[in-house]
Amino acid sequence: MIKEQPLTAARNGNGVKPSKRLAYATSRESTPANIAPSYGHFIGGAFVPSSSGETFETTNPATGEVLSRVATGTPEDVDRAVAAARKAYEKYWQPLSPARRAAYVYRIARAISERSRELAVLETLDNGKPIKESRDFDVPMSSAHFFYYAGWADKLDYAGFGPDPRPLGVAGQVIPWNFPLMMAAWKLAPALAAGNTCVLKPASTTPLSALLLAEIVQQADLPPGVVNVLTGAGSVAGAALVAHPGIDKVAFTGSTEIGKDLQRALAGTGKHLTLELGGKAANIVFDDAPLDQAIEGIVNGIFFNQGEVCCAGSRLLVQESIADLVVEKLKRRLGTLRVGDPLDKNTDLGAINNAAQLEKIQELAEAGEAEGAVRWSPKCVLPSHGYWFPPTVFTNVSPAHRIAREEIFGPVLSVLTFRTPEEAVAKANNTTYGLSAGVWTEKGSRILWMAGQLRAGVVWANSFNRFDPTSPFGGYRESGFGREGGRPGLAAYLDV
Ligand code: NAP
Ligand code: MG
Repeated sequence: MIKEQPLTAARNGNGVKPSKRLAYATSRESTPANIAPSYGHFIGGAFVPSSSGETFETTNPATGEVLSRVATGTPEDVDRAVAAARKAYEKYWQPLSPARRAAYVYRIARAISERSRELAVLETLDNGKPIKESRDFDVPMSSAHFFYYAGWADKLDYAGFGPDPRPLGVAGQVIPWNFPLMMAAWKLAPALAAGNTCVLKPASTTPLSALLLAEIVQQADLPPGVVNVLTGAGSVAGAALVAHPGIDKVAFTGSTEIGKDLQRALAGTGKHLTLELGGKAANIVFDDAPLDQAIEGIVNGIFFNQGEVCCAGSRLLVQESIADLVVEKLKRRLGTLRVGDPLDKNTDLGAINNAAQLEKIQELAEAGEAEGAVRWSPKCVLPSHGYWFPPTVFTNVSPAHRIAREEIFGPVLSVLTFRTPEEAVAKANNTTYGLSAGVWTEKGSRILWMAGQLRAGVVWANSFNRFDPTSPFGGYRESGFGREGGRPGLAAYLDV
């Protein structure tokens, strides 16, 4: 399988001949990521150190190597960032003509496209995801969001929001580590287009792409303070940001647990709040489904981004009559997946993002076995360094099992069966979450009926994990509230 290689050799793309780096090294991405040894916060248009002078490291989860050091955000840093955003809101961004605002947002979109390779490599190094995913999904989706929302900026009067829709003011935005750049784009693009200024806090394990985005914002010559990026621990910098009285809107994506804490903490403050939290999506396969297509959809549904996806299809609900056949086909397909070096263009599953997440996956998988489900993984040799978990399928799963109820956020699929569409709906809705679902059937009428019955913000028909900036995304129940994407995503940043 993969031989461990020094990161610097890969990153610099020199010194070591590709053929000596890896077993199938000719397909390894060699674009340099140009990572600086350290980064400050991006506040008021400049990179500045933490008020404490402290930094922390971010590592490559596939190798354990340190990539860079970033500023440890303090409450004083949050004060500075919020003050910069407030000043920018009043002095530059709000008075600016909508067409000029649009032009700035377009500039960011174009710069992301121009620097797409570099961003993709950086994202893969910091997060652990396969390069083909950061290259073909994360980065293009990020620029697409900026392009899409740039188009709205000077058309708000015609968007059906009523007369004179106003921005909310300063937005405090906290994002997770699973899609670091794309989550930054989902937060910043609609906020900026609607006329707000932003303070964004990326996750501690994946701060680098947001910092490169800050560099892009700087080069796009946005007025200072319109976008601020503050790194640091969620419990300190994140908590200080969302609690700051100078913030008008909090947008959070992450765990349901922290989301609930935020909701409690913000009660009565009058701040606008949107939450995009966890999920336990059902991918429902009927006996008339286009089966080969469904197998691909199941694989993509749970193994895309190592399953570290809030809308991952982590519960396969398959009609009883075809369950054995589907599981057999699925196992055969899993045997072809390549797990390993995220920079290899052929890799299907990369590293788990961090040690805590790996432990959580391991713990839940062990609970699955202990509760009587049957665990299966294809033969694969995992790299000896970094955080790895093989693609895993559990059969004999009962709805009461923890692996059927709790969000695992890893490459672990729980297979359950059903007999009738009514039973499929009941089982799919038997969750505290409500983010997404997939339905596989040739019957159009059944798809429409299911879509109406399933309590999920998104229902994919004969597909899974499809995204588009024009489509609103978001959940019900403990998956949060508010929508990102489309016109509703814009409304979340407007006083209408
Ligand atoms: P998390 O703790 O909710 O972190 C998400 C973001 O919130 C990070 O930027 C984090 O900063 C920050 N944060 C943490 N505590 C905060 C606080 N008290 N106030 C304000 N911000 C705070 O999620 P996680 O630890 O990364 O992952 C835990 C679980 O969340 C996963 O196992 C998964 O189930 C779920 N998750 C869901 C999504 C999603 O897209 N819905 C994404 C990621 C994770 P730090 O990085 O510094 O902690
Ligand atoms: Mg990292």
